[in-house]
Amino acid sequence: MRIHRPLTPEEAYGIRKECRASSYLLGGTYVLSIGHEREDLIDLNGFITSGISEEGDSIIIGAGAKLEDVSASSAVPPIIRKAAAGCPSLQQRNMATIGGNAALCLADGYMTAALLAADAHVLLYDGDSTVNMPYRVYAEKHSPEWIILSLSIAGSKDGSVKRISRASHMHAAVTAAVCGDSYAYTASPSSIMYGNRDCYKDMDLESDLTGSAEYKRYLLSVIFKEDRDGNQS
Ligand SMILES: Cc1cc2nc3c(=O)[nH]c(=O)nc-3n(C[C@H](O)[C@H](O)[C@H](O)COP(=O)(O)OP(=O)(O)OC[C@H]3O[C@@H](n4cnc5c(N)ncnc54)[C@H](O)[C@@H]3O)c2cc1C
Repeated sequence: MRIHRPLTPEEAYGIRKECRASSYLLGGTYVLSIGHEREDLIDLNGFITSGISEEGDSIIIGAGAKLEDVSASSAVPPIIRKAAAGCPSLQQRNMATIGGNAALCLADGYMTAALLAADAHVLLYDGDSTVNMPYRVYAEKHSPEWIILSLSIAGSKDGSVKRISRASHMHAAVTAAVCGDSYAYTASPSSIMYGNRDCYKDMDLESDLTGSAEYKRYLLSVIFKEDRDGNQS
């Protein structure tokens, strides 16, 4: 295995283009795990920042920020903090980054539903320039060569995120997030949906180790249930 250590996004992108079977490396919790090995790893830590700052109404989170730092920062909207804290292992939270997690865009991802519901944006380098893109667009059409530099979320965004798994350290069967009237649902292994509260009804659900398709359908139907007075729990 070769590890490249570029110092600019341009350099990193160039190596990624040249070595087709390569992968970026940030926290390494995914790319250094069994089954995801690559001959060439491109370490982005030479130029990616990890700070969390406020710019106007937005909170800017460097892609290199660890999930533990995101979950502990009082500047970060609670829905994003809670999503990061959903990673159950302290060791993993101390290594895994929000940029690596956002890039993976997993249907059992810690952050995916919360970033979609909160209408987060990613600042990325696409090989030509730096582009600010809604995460919803990124989730649908990203190229594996793009480099996420930071994420931004409106500081006023608040909401709720719920992650349901059979045991705390297992992959989530479903995760659901809501911000105002914006809902996002993810279900293992590959279903992601966002829109209104009922949009989960259009999800194509599959059975896997986390549970049957019917079980996931049931969870999604009650995950944001209202009591008789219309309060959501
Ligand atoms: C035991 C175990 C259980 C896990 N369970 C879960 C889980 O339930 N949910 C979940 O979401 N994740 C899970 N993961 C995966 C992983 O730990 C997290 O997704 C983590 O947040 C990834 O961040 P990282 O910084 O470690 O990424 P890395 O491993 O460094 O990279 C992950 C991927 O993102 C790409 N990438 C990294 N940085 C960037 C960037 N700046 N721009 C563009 N692409 C980039 C890389 O090319 C790579 O494909 C698990 C991993 C392990 C080992």
